[in-house]
Order: sequence, then structure tokens, then C-alpha cells
Amino acid sequence: RPLQIGLTGGIGSGKSTVAAMLVKLGAVLIDTDAISRGLTLPGGAAIDPLRAAFGNDVIAADGAMDRVRMRERVFADPSAKVRLEGILHPLIGLETQRQSDAAGDAVRVFDVPLLVESSRWRARVDRVLVIDCPEHVQVQRVLARSAWAPGTVEAVIRQQAPRAARRAAADAVIFNDGLTLDELAAEVASVWQRWNPVEQCHGSDRC
Ligand code: ATP
Repeated sequence: RPLQIGLTGGIGSGKSTVAAMLVKLGAVLIDTDAISRGLTLPGGAAIDPLRAAFGNDVIAADGAMDRVRMRERVFADPSAKVRLEGILHPLIGLETQRQSDAAGDAVRVFDVPLLVESSRWRARVDRVLVIDCPEHVQVQRVLARSAWAPGTVEAVIRQQAPRAARRAAADAVIFNDGLTLDELAAEVASVWQRWNPVEQCHGSDRC
């Protein structure tokens, strides 16, 4: 069975950047955030069940889930979070499996922001790759790309696993602070070679 890598890290740590580098090395990326977003776009499979569970006010005029409204509900009410996850997680699981089944012999990389927090995900993947960086760098990166308030980024960080817990669950950690993108790519390539030694032989006369 092809290797299954779980890629995780806190918000703004550099997961998507690393995921793109792994794809260049030959992996097929399965992005659970993108899957989740797709399910909650207009016509997405989660829209009808969300409307039934939470009412029309969590669905925007265009038919997508209203993210701001939903975030408010979930922040205010832990049971709403459980219900939301009860709708989204099985649908994400189905689509994840469909994409994985379509990936042939390629190494699969599952980008899962909350992988360390999920015993199911940890059991499912063969290796866990954690992208780590200091919290102030996470905050800087997220603010640079979006109009969030600093407090919102910090609140998200507090809801995610602490860095130490994430590192403890890792088979490899890439510390993504102060690295140029080329240096980061070199670190990614080194983990890839370690985990896919056979790949080194393809097209090379060393083997
Ligand atoms: P999220 O959890 O919010 O999806 P993420 O962990 O996927 O975030 P990225 O989107 O990969 O993080 O990175 C956040 C931002 O930081 C991006 O704009 C990315 O280009 C930039 N970035 C990440 N690592 C580096 C680096 N080593 N050098 C320069 N820019 C970087």
C-alpha cells in the first residue's frame, strides 16, 4: 500500500507551502480544509443538513454556509460545535476516501490542520509530518495575508493543540522559522527521501 503522510501544523505554520513542495516531489495532496470548504459552498453536500440542524441564518444569501455566523455560534455554544462536526466529519471522510482511492500508487499527503487532535487521523496515516514555528510568527503570517484581528488569530491558536503536543506526535518536524523557501524545500526533500528511499532510484544510475 502506498505511504500515507499526515501533514499538520498550527494556523500559518506553512502547511500549504510544504504541501505544494511535496506535490512537486510526486505526492498526491488531499487537502481536508479544501474539501470542507467545498462541502459548504453553494450546492455543497453539507448545506442541506446544516440548514436542517441550524436554521437558515447560518446559510448566506448565495447559498453557502455563512462562516462568520457559524463561527459565532460555535464559539458561543460547544454543543453547536459537536453538531457541526457531526455533519461535516462524515462528509469529509467520504470525500477524502474518494480522492485517496483515485490517487493510484502515489504517496498520499493528507493536509489535516487538526490531525494531532484526532485519534482517527493519527491511526489512519503511516507518518506524521509537523510544521512547527513560534506563535508570534504564526500571527504575523496570518495577519499578512488576511484582515483578521490579532485576537482572532490568537483565539484560533489557543483552540489548536499546543506546539509541544504536536511535536510529540510527529515522526518528523520541520521548524519553519527563518528559512527561505529554498531552505524549506530542501528540508521537505530530505524528509521525503528518508520516507521514500525507493524514489531515489527512479531514473538514477546509482541503483
Ligand atoms: P493555514 O493553517 O492558515 O492554512 P498554513 O499552515 O497552510 O496556514 P501557509 O499558507 O503555507 O500556512 O503559510 C502562511 C503564509 O506564510 C503564506 O503566505 C506563505 O507563503 C508564508 N510562508 C510560509 N513559510 C514561509 C517561508 N519559509 N518563507 C516565506 N514565507 C513563508
